Amino acid sequence: MSGKLYLIATPIGNLEDITYRAIKILKEVDLIAAEDTRHTLGLLNHFEINKPLISYYKQTEKKRSLELISKLLDGKNIAIVSDAGTPGISDPGEEIVKCAIENNIEIIPIPGCVAFVNALICSGMSTKEFSFIGFLSVNNKEKKDKLSEYKFDTKTLIIYEAPHKLIATLNTIYEILGNRRIVLARELTKIHEEFIRDNIKNILDKNIEPKGEYVIIIEGSSQNEKEYEIKILNEKTLEEHYKFYQEKGFNKKEIIKKIAKDRNIEKNEIYQYFI
Ligand code: SAM
Repeated sequence: MSGKLYLIATPIGNLEDITYRAIKILKEVDLIAAEDTRHTLGLLNHFEINKPLISYYKQTEKKRSLELISKLLDGKNIAIVSDAGTPGISDPGEEIVKCAIENNIEIIPIPGCVAFVNALICSGMSTKEFSFIGFLSVNNKEKKDKLSEYKFDTKTLIIYEAPHKLIATLNTIYEILGNRRIVLARELTKIHEEFIRDNIKNILDKNIEPKGEYVIIIEGSSQNEKEYEIKILNEKTLEEHYKFYQEKGFNKKEIIKKIAKDRNIEKNEIYQYFI
């Protein structure tokens, strides 16, 4: 019979944030696959857990997954842990889950910390709907393109960022999304835990020197794409406004109706203007 694959959440700073169940399972499994074995050894030593460790990180994820699947098929129970938080969330884990499903291996989540969830719930921003996009690309164009996808998204946007790239990323967010309200959730669960809540410009003006780990929470757009388009059109001349709809293939009657609606004025006024 195949073994079981456990995905175990570990603390994101404070070692007390591990569950009883996580410790119990870590003590029971045959093997622990860890993103960084030295880092995980510290955690295991703290809880007096003595188990064989194998490395499982992004660059070796595919190859290692196959090796681990073969051990699981041999009946071994395996735990996947990352350096912090929940495996598979901006961390290795996704690959082995896919392989395990293909091989009919039972997959069991052991819940616990996720940095962005804790940042979000204390942010004061809407928690009803949100988009978590993890780390942005290091490539500037890809970074801007990704952020542009969320320009009109009314959901709260959540990003992970390394401290040495934080200021550059805040500048790009400012450039693409405008001066939104944001929350920087720093060093969650650790001694220097801090929530910085302000608009991006004010935060940039403070010239902070980022230290530690950050989650960036960005308020969703207050305008949808249609509203934005109408705002821009209303700033144009009536001729330009007319041309915009003409190029979209509308006839004169339709265009006048649309312009009147966009500008909240009588159709007749527009009609008079154009004769
Ligand atoms: N798997 C983790 C999780 O469940 O949240 C995320 C791992 S990802 C490689 C690391 C990023 O998560 C950091 O760069 C930071 O953005 C965020 N992060 C992790 N721990 C954090 C903490 N204690 N405070 C703030 N952000 C944290």
